[in-house]
This record gives sequence, structure tokens and C-alpha cells, in this order.
Amino acid sequence: MTRLWNDPASFADDMVEGFVRANGRWVRRVSGGVSRSTRSPEPEVAVVIGGGSGHYPAFGGLVGPGLAHGAAMGNLFASPSAHQVESVIRSSEQGRGVLLSFGNYAGDVLHFGAAQEALRQDGVDCRTVVVTDDIFSAPQSQKARRRGIAGDLTVFKAAGAAAAAGSGIDDVERAAVLANARTRSMGVAFTGCTLPGAEEPLFTVPEGKMAVGLGIHGEPGIDITDIPSADGLAELFVDRLLDAAEVPEGATIKGGRVVPILNGLGSVKNEELYVVYARIADLLTEAGLTLVDPRVGEFCTSFDMAGVSLTLLWLDEELERLWLAPADTPAFAAGSVDSSALEAVTMDGGYGGDGEWGEEAELPASSEESRKAAGVISQALAVMRDAIDAQAAELGRIDAIAGDGDHGIGMQRGTVAAAEAAMALGGQGAGAESLLTRCGDAWSDRAGGTSGALWGLILKTVGSHLGDTSPATAATLAAGISAAKTAVMDYGKAKVGDKTMVDALVPFADTLAARVTAGESLAEAWRKAASAAATAAEATADLMPGMGRARSHGAKSLGTPDPGAVSLALIAERIHTVIAASVTPIPSI
Ligand code: ADP
Ligand code: MG
Repeated sequence: MTRLWNDPASFADDMVEGFVRANGRWVRRVSGGVSRSTRSPEPEVAVVIGGGSGHYPAFGGLVGPGLAHGAAMGNLFASPSAHQVESVIRSSEQGRGVLLSFGNYAGDVLHFGAAQEALRQDGVDCRTVVVTDDIFSAPQSQKARRRGIAGDLTVFKAAGAAAAAGSGIDDVERAAVLANARTRSMGVAFTGCTLPGAEEPLFTVPEGKMAVGLGIHGEPGIDITDIPSADGLAELFVDRLLDAAEVPEGATIKGGRVVPILNGLGSVKNEELYVVYARIADLLTEAGLTLVDPRVGEFCTSFDMAGVSLTLLWLDEELERLWLAPADTPAFAAGSVDSSALEAVTMDGGYGGDGEWGEEAELPASSEESRKAAGVISQALAVMRDAIDAQAAELGRIDAIAGDGDHGIGMQRGTVAAAEAAMALGGQGAGAESLLTRCGDAWSDRAGGTSGALWGLILKTVGSHLGDTSPATAATLAAGISAAKTAVMDYGKAKVGDKTMVDALVPFADTLAARVTAGESLAEAWRKAASAAATAAEATADLMPGMGRARSHGAKSLGTPDPGAVSLALIAERIHTVIAASVTPIPSI
């Protein structure tokens, strides 16, 4: 239960504000998150981390000398948008390259990936190491598909320590890759969590039971058992993490050295953690391991979820040096950082500044026809917002079955932001492309998550086909939607049959293009395309997921359609009413 908030919608923002006010010694607020408030005399490779909010101290609490240089902080449980990540990178980078690191979640991968692309185009050497420590989210043979949980910390720490030692980007990247390869975690949960203002928990664990392997956003666990004693839990953790298959290559149990990190997920007391830790320490030692600098506390939480995870970082000589190197952040400290040489970062330019980046440029010139099309698009965006608003709870419900339950909230935030952006542009003379570009950015900025990134891309791609001066025809619209289909598949790498929004988008785009080419009116072609999307969305109920968060819980989603496909079909159907009723119909071909 979260008890204190002002407006649930601004909770994440309000939290960042207070966090920065309380921790100015380490961080300053920048657009999209936080960046260090000090810098070393010599420039360093910048380590930029991030993810959704609700996991404190991940991610803002880990920014400071010896650890991260900046953290992109998204909305509650939603990845930061590409814009936010890009802004934090620009405020943190110091001319020596940038290492991005975050937990392996589809939305974060998409948004950080887009930001990396933008930075690379500007000649900044930007690399990414995705954290994949959670042993229950995919088999060891598919380690790259595992999600990231409290093991984030070891990877961020190794990278931050390498950067602080003056290493170049190649070595910082290598240190992070090595730490990730040698980090394993597993978690259990006793209760779900309730986001601010929500009436129901995002997910639940049956009373008196323990969910083994439950994800930090409530992605369903692998097993439900009775709650063991503290010693019993210690035994479960150690048993699983010392399983031969989970001992990293090059590491050994007998004579090996590990950093144990026992993490509380939000509402388990430190006292309880210490009781569990006492037995963990015995078991690891009895197995022949030497324990180095153990950590017990909160490192990656999940709002008020009651749960515990154990992470093991299997040391080699290099990782031990990196782990023990001094660090000083709001939530994590190691050794003692010599702060005498640190300089305060000022806001005026250079890598310290928040800069001009992100300010809106003037609208390009537009034709009257394009402005009319923009008017119809604004109506469509308002209709989308209302349609999603009415179905948000249902979309959340079906996302919770195999995903993390936020699809309704995310789509709501995205459509509200897009409709608002369209309204704000009203009367300013925006053509179709400018309108869709601004609305697409607003959508992905506010919604975060996988679907936010993909819908932002859809709007912008359609916009670039419509242009600001050429007439918007049925043919250009159909071509724009086909291009959006290709862009979504290139970007998210999902194919038809993977149980994602692609399953609805492909028949929608293909039917629309075929019907328009056959000479049907836009309204008629759209009606048939929307109906094809609806049929395909329903049919996703019979599919096993191949992409996205739901992938690790395949069988659980059988019988339930994919939320992203359902919302896309719903939007397509509702937009038909706008097209059919449009007083300024988009001319056919
Ligand atoms: P998140 O998965 O980040 O929580 P949402 O819950 O808003 O984001 O959206 C989930 C939807 O996103 C899924 O139902 C699916 O349709 C879509 N999705 C997930 N991954 C992909 C992908 N790689 N390509 C296309 N669509 C995807
Ligand atoms: Mg989701």
C-alpha cells in the first residue's frame, strides 16, 4: 500500500524533485532524470544507467563518484523514453564515450537503443551492456534473454569503477560485460505491490504463499510454494545459485570468492534480511567460498512488494578490485572517495550543462491541405484517447496475466499526451508531419514501456509519409502505415506469430494497402483493415509468446490475447468512425 502522494500521475516527477533536493551533494536534476553534481578533474567515460521508477535506489540512488554518472528515470515501472535517455546522456557525457547499462526489459532496450543511435549519429562512442542476472527468467543456455534484477548493481559498479580509474570506453565496456557474465540472482515474493493511487495491487501472491522467481514488475513467478523459515529460504537461494549450471564459466565453488548481495524488494525489514543472511553466510562458507564485502539491504526494490533476492557476484582478481574501489552515492558507498579534487558542475554549457537540447524548434511551413489533414488526425487522437481510457483496466488485466500489468496505464499516458500535444498545436499551423512527429514524441516520452516506443515510432513514420506540404491521400496514408509496420518490426524484431502488436499491425497495414490499391474509398478500406486487425488480435489468444515480457511465461498466456495487439485493433476500429464521419474527407488517391 502506498499512502502518500499528491497526484498519482505526477508521483514519479514529484519523487525525483524531492530526491534531488535531498541529495544535491551527489546529483542534480536534468531533463529525463539525474546527473552527477560533481565531476573529476579529468574527464571520464560516462556510465549512464536507468529504468522505470519504483525500484529505489535503482536507479537515481546509484549516481555519484565511482559509480554512475547519470540515471534516466522513467515513470513508475515504465522505461524512460528515448528522449529522456538521450537528454541524460548529453548532460553526463564528457567526451570520452558513454556506456549505457540497464536491466534487460523490452521497453528499456528499445528506448536506450534509440538514444544510443542518436548519440552515435553525432559521433559519440556509445556502447550498451544489458544486465541479465535473474536465473529464473530464461534458461542458462539463453542468458542473453534473462531479465535484470538486483544484479544491476554489480554491473554498474564494475563499469563505474573502471571509468573512475580512467579506463577508456573499451575497458569500461569489458568490465561491465565481465561483471554481468559473473552475476547471478534469484528472487522470491510474498506480496505484490500497489502503485500510488491504485485501488488494487498490480499483482498478488496467494496469502501465506511464496512466489519463486517473481519478476520485479510482477512478471509471474515460476513456482508457488509455502513460505519457508528464514533458514529454509537461505537454503533455497544457496541451493539454486550454487547449482553447477549457474556457476559462471571460469569460476569455482571450492576456493572461489563471491560478493553476496541480499536485497529487500520493498517491505521486508532489514532485521528479517539479517536473519536470512546469517544462514546464507554459513552455507556459502561451508561450500568452500570466501565471502567478500557482503551487502544486505535494499538495492533494487519493487515499490512496496514484500520479497527478497540473493545475488552472487563471482569474483576474479579484476572484479574484486573494481567491486572494492571507492564509490560514494546517495544509496551505496564503498571505501572512501577523495572528494577534495571534485569540482561542482554548473549549468552553463560544456558537459555540465543541461543545454538547449530538447527545446522545440519552430514549426516548418505547411500547406492548407496538410493542415486540414492535421485537423482530422487531431480528432483521431482524441478518439484514441477516449477509447483507451474506457478499456484501460481491461488492457491492464490481460497484460497482468503474463506481462507486468501496465499496458492500460501506459497506453493511457501515451494517448493522453499525444492528444494534449495535438491540442496544444491547434491553431499554430502544424502540417500533418509536424503534428504526428510532436505527438509521437509526446506519446513515447510520457508512456515509456515497449508499446510507448513503438507507438511513437508508428506516429512519426506515418507523419514522415504524409509530409507538411503534400496532400494527404489514401495512398500516402496506406504507404505510411505500411512503412510503420516495417519500422516496428525492424526496431522490435518481432515477427508475425510472436504474440505481439505486430500480429494485428501486419494484417491491418496489408489489408489497407491492398484495398486502397484496389480503388476502394479510404473509409471502406480502413473498415476492412480494422476488421482484419480485430480478427488477428483475437487469434493471438492461441499463440505462445515469442517476444516481450510475456516470453518467459509462455504457457500462462495461452487463452489470453496479446494486450498490445488488442489495443492496436481497438484503436484501428475507433479511428474508422473519424474517417467515415470526417467533414473534410481525406481525398481518395
Ligand atoms: P512493457 O512490455 O514494456 O510493459 P506494455 O505493457 O505497454 O510495455 O506493452 C506490451 C505490449 O508491447 C505487448 O503486449 C506487445 O504487443 C508489445 N510488444 C512487446 N515487445 C514487442 C516487440 N519486440 N515488438 C513488437 N511489440 C512488442
Ligand atoms: Mg506491460
